[in-house]
Amino acid sequence: MNLLLYGAPGSGKGTQANVLRAYFRIPHIATGDMLRAEIANRTQLGLKAQPILAAGQYVSDEIMIAMIRNRLRQADCEPGFIMDGFPRTVPQAEALDDLMEELGRRFDRVIYLKVPVDELLRRLSGRLVCPRCQRTYPPGTAACAIHGTALVQREDDKPEAVRPRIEIYLEKTVPVLDHYRAFGLVSEIDGRGTIEAISSQVLAAVSTHLNGANSSPRSGEVARRAGGAARPKQKP
Ligand code: ADP
Repeated sequence: MNLLLYGAPGSGKGTQANVLRAYFRIPHIATGDMLRAEIANRTQLGLKAQPILAAGQYVSDEIMIAMIRNRLRQADCEPGFIMDGFPRTVPQAEALDDLMEELGRRFDRVIYLKVPVDELLRRLSGRLVCPRCQRTYPPGTAACAIHGTALVQREDDKPEAVRPRIEIYLEKTVPVLDHYRAFGLVSEIDGRGTIEAISSQVLAAVSTHLNGANSSPRSGEVARRAGGAARPKQKP
């Protein structure tokens, strides 16, 4: 099961990735988290990326493509993966097509979480994040519900970086959606509503396309499985 989560900053990709990860037991590959880990570890790449992220700009295609190339070759990706934050440009999408072909894989579904720009701006400004697990919380929340850790504001959620992030998304990342639409892979889901309601729609969209069968599970079943209980049939 190879899934691609597509959407603007603040559209809820990370939140839905957590649900999909529990449901399918496959890794969540989030390039933003990978870059933040490089920054925290003060690697050469991290030092280079830090001011780029803080300004809400994009790290170069060359660096990002190399990062994904290494990541997808790791053994834990064999049963599949949930990709979030990549590709963000058309050259990245084209490089990913080549890489997937090399690896003999294909995407089962691209999930597009659609949220209007005014709502994105509202969500991003002031949201807080757990420094341990990267879960996001609304303004005013004191601690992470999972870890009890004090929450922090991501440097790129500060007001001066939020607008550039949305602008670069509209310019460079919106065309990536057409790239996947041309392959008939995109399921468009309204990213407004409760986390559970959106998860049900995401899982139903994925299940509908499992093994090409029209086997959308009932939403109660979806919610139960999203709690991490059962594991669905994988593609052969
Ligand atoms: P969001 O989707 O909320 O903007 P992410 O955590 O996915 O947050 O990404 C944070 C930042 O990391 C981006 O604003 C960008 O600077 C950098 N980044 C992540 N993925 C890529 C990518 N594929 N190409 C270029 N830059 C990236």
